[in-house]
Amino acid sequence: MTKRVCVIGAGSSGLSAIKCCLDEGLEPTCFEGTDDIGGLWRFKETPEDGRASIYRSVIMNTSKEMMCFSDFPSPEDFPNYMPNAKVLEYFRMYAEHFNLAKYIRFKTTVCSAKKRPDFAITGQWDVITEMEGKQESAIFDAILVCSGHHTSPNLPLGSFPGIEKFKGQCFHSRDYKDPFEFKGKRIIVIGLGNSGGDLAVEISLVAKQVFISTRRGAWILNRVSENGFPLDVVMSKRYKKLMKRFMPMSMFNSREENKMNARFNHENYGLKPRHRIISQHPTVSDDLPNRIISGKVLIRPNVKRFTETAAIFEDGTMEENIDVVVFATGYCCHFPFFEDSIAKVEDNRLPLYKHVFPPHLEKNTVAFIGLIQPLGAIMPVAELQNRWATRIFKGLNKLPSEDVMNADITLKREKQKKFYVESPRHTLQVDFMEYMDDLAAEIDAKPNLLSLLVKDPKLAKELFFGPCTPYQYRLKGPGKWDKARETILTQRDRIIKPTKTRLLNYDMTDSSSSMPLYLKVVALLLVIAAVFLSL
Ligand code: FAD
Ligand code: NAP
Repeated sequence: MTKRVCVIGAGSSGLSAIKCCLDEGLEPTCFEGTDDIGGLWRFKETPEDGRASIYRSVIMNTSKEMMCFSDFPSPEDFPNYMPNAKVLEYFRMYAEHFNLAKYIRFKTTVCSAKKRPDFAITGQWDVITEMEGKQESAIFDAILVCSGHHTSPNLPLGSFPGIEKFKGQCFHSRDYKDPFEFKGKRIIVIGLGNSGGDLAVEISLVAKQVFISTRRGAWILNRVSENGFPLDVVMSKRYKKLMKRFMPMSMFNSREENKMNARFNHENYGLKPRHRIISQHPTVSDDLPNRIISGKVLIRPNVKRFTETAAIFEDGTMEENIDVVVFATGYCCHFPFFEDSIAKVEDNRLPLYKHVFPPHLEKNTVAFIGLIQPLGAIMPVAELQNRWATRIFKGLNKLPSEDVMNADITLKREKQKKFYVESPRHTLQVDFMEYMDDLAAEIDAKPNLLSLLVKDPKLAKELFFGPCTPYQYRLKGPGKWDKARETILTQRDRIIKPTKTRLLNYDMTDSSSSMPLYLKVVALLLVIAAVFLSL
């Protein structure tokens, strides 16, 4: 009998969940609490309960070739870093192309999902949903939890004595939409993650003064990297991963930090953290240094306490006449439809095997999708998780014993602790390529570079020296895509296409720009002389 799978949420993770169920011959029903697809990427003027909420200007910090689904490249004319409306457009194209909408029940919220009495034998779930006040119950063989983890704000008011007396406006970044209402005001943004960086920069265009309060500083990365290629395209390469493995970590850190400091000195800009660059989830902000150098944004340490109108910082300095405090302090995972016996989140941590499966259940029929924070895009990672999970549900792949899974969880947690600075925001952190390879190996979709080197050296070269794009995981195994090779070999064209909008119709090596002949001869003679002198 075809297994019925409940998919919770129709954001990017939920869409690929439906597609993967269909690919494996499972029967998906996706419940989406709101009236449309896209999850976080659908901008609305007012935040909706139970769905993430973004500001109008959000632009991705992962690029289109790295964030797309592995068998559906973003259109070649789409910008590399898509504004939110384009991201949504891409998801709509994906849903339409694979005809996914008919499996989604909109305005239907999953209220509870409980193990059925015979769960130990069947692995089945009783799922209760609510649509316009009416509750319904249904039985499912498995659940893919795709409800997102950027919905419930982390508002650490208890860590800020005096905030209750503060007379100005105070809110979480989730509730921020536009900068206009902050014209002429003095604002403190708490937190220097990507929300803090984005909000401070945007608000500073109209505000009188913006301060960022950060308890540990951050290395600031730029979307535009070497030769104008997107940062993640430049960073996520297999040969770099190999080099990193053999390079002492301190050397790797110094090399990357030097690059960041070559753009602007982080110490002189008040941003330098005590930790090394690799130890924190990256903050990408193209404009922050520009706003700091123009004095519109000033960096301050953590706030020790607030008064009715002022903030006193840990270094003893004070800023008075503060109008607004924005908490850009991140989010907490939250699964209100599960009892603690299924999913108990503690310190923003849910113990999951390979960040997907709770190890303690008698049957592995629930999988958490997208509950990760990669050094890269979430979408293709969530897609691979879906590919793996659906095969587990179908019985084509098996999980190890509970003890083995728990041991793996402990090992990974120790590694994570050693690598990243201790912060709740790092509990979901994974390395993009390493994690993708790990999942792909589970379903035999990890590309074999050595065999490709013999059979298809051109492709092998691009896999090794080019960006690790999601199509690499469609070259073999279940779900093999016959266009994967061609898509990989043309990826650079698709990256360049949207920026190269003014084509040169003249020869760049014209006589005025090239070196005169006599100078070339002199240069050649100098080189020959230098060679002889050095012998
Ligand atoms: P979501 O997009 O949050 O979708 C979850 C869906 O589940 C929603 O539609 C919600 O309505 C629905 N839902 C929830 N609970 C229920 C329920 N009980 N019943 C029914 N439906 C339910 N990631 C990147 O990879 N690149 C980026 O550049 C990037 N930028 C970001 C910018 C911001 C400001 C933020 C906050 C996050 C960003 N992220 C980025 C991370 C982001 O979470 C992912 O891009 C992506 O949205 C995750 O998709 P998802 O489907 O897992 O979750
Ligand atoms: P985040 O990454 O969790 O960052 C939270 C920030 O708040 C960190 O600087 C953290 O400091 C600080 N903080 C948390 N609790 C604090 C406390 N009690 N006291 C002082 N400081 C505290 O959250 P986010 O910036 O909202 O980002 C969430 C996700 O959305 C990330 O995946 C991010 O990449 C993504 N995002 C992307 C974009 C984009 O693409 N343009 C924009 C915004 C967000 P510590 O480091 O010290 O913990």
